[in-house]
Amino acid sequence: MDPLIWIDEQLNQLSQSDLLRELPVPLCAAGATVEIDGQQLVNFASNDYLGLAADERLVAAATDACRQQGIGRGASPLICGRAEMHAALEKRLAQFEQTEAALLFPTGFAVNAGIIPALVNEDDAIYSDAKNHASIVDGCRLASAETHIYPHGDTESLARLLQDSNQFRRRLIVTDSLFSMDGDLAPLVELGNLAERHDAMLMVDEAHATGVFGTHGRGVVEHLTEQHPRLHDQVHVRVGTLSKALGAAGGFVCGSTSLVGWLANRARTYVFSTAHPAATSAAAIAALEIVAEQPDRRKNLLEKSASLRSQLNKMGWNTGKSASQIIPLLVGSASETMRLAKTLREAGFWVGAIRPPSVPEGESLLRLGLTAGHTDTMIAEFVAALGRLDHQSKHASVVAS
Ligand SMILES: *Cc1c(COP(=O)(O)O)cnc(C)c1O
Repeated sequence: MDPLIWIDEQLNQLSQSDLLRELPVPLCAAGATVEIDGQQLVNFASNDYLGLAADERLVAAATDACRQQGIGRGASPLICGRAEMHAALEKRLAQFEQTEAALLFPTGFAVNAGIIPALVNEDDAIYSDAKNHASIVDGCRLASAETHIYPHGDTESLARLLQDSNQFRRRLIVTDSLFSMDGDLAPLVELGNLAERHDAMLMVDEAHATGVFGTHGRGVVEHLTEQHPRLHDQVHVRVGTLSKALGAAGGFVCGSTSLVGWLANRARTYVFSTAHPAATSAAAIAALEIVAEQPDRRKNLLEKSASLRSQLNKMGWNTGKSASQIIPLLVGSASETMRLAKTLREAGFWVGAIRPPSVPEGESLLRLGLTAGHTDTMIAEFVAALGRLDHQSKHASVVAS
């Protein structure tokens, strides 16, 4: 018998429960429109929030770097893979985040999978929000620390957990700053105070917020620091990605010189993975310049998002606690979510159909990611298309909420 036969059975099951993922091949996934199978679609499925992924300044910077330095780095950064361009980007990121130092990783996923096990182990404890990104979840699994999952955003539960578990050597609180599926913000001010009160380390992942929130685009920590000046120093470990609003690829961590020095020695996804191309860093540097020079990109994006959200709510859609450019339409069943996504696609709109395992059973949703490239017309046409949907789920989810 074929020892892989179980896989076909599993795939069949996924397919029958509407959970099978396809691997679409769109022409240019970034930007406000995509072409897929010959059809032109308005793209609400990408994380290219500032519309930089296909920006000619990023492309030019990357092309120049490629011509000068080639593509592959040939080795991990500690051996000989680190380029001057990486060092320059790390310096730039540290300035941007107002920390002493920064360290680049091949992806944002690799940052979380690598640094959490480097910060805590068997004598220690982790406190992780129930809706944290999969890469944080996996980082916690790889660390041999005791992991406490607190209910999403629930600082009272977290306070009790911290109170009742003070026997550990080191403690780490970890959270997304802007949650990737619900588009809501973490209660960072309370988390900062709790971390301080309990001598815990606080790690914040700004993957979806970098470039979008805060006066200078540093993220939700900056946004909240404007009202709560102590927060900046209460966050010890800042994580971000270059692959969403910054339009490039790769992840980074920022903090004190000693933190970064330790992680460069001990984070296994840094030590044992080949450095990313210098061209990627060159593109990210160009993106950071645009973020600094064009604050209107993020301002307009958030205004556009608030306006769309209020229109959707008026139509009866439940957008949960979204307070950002990520707007979920909470549907519930995976099959209904797929049906709505398919109808919208026929109408010319690509939205993310988010199903288990990305969300718990019964909490499937359509995820809208707004980007700088979405015009008022595109948004108005999308709202009109939603209005034409016959969807029991709208009223069901409103009643349920
Ligand atoms: C997307 C995401 C990551 C992973 O970043 P990549 O650069 O895409 O690997 C990490 N953390 C959070 C919160 C994310 O949303």
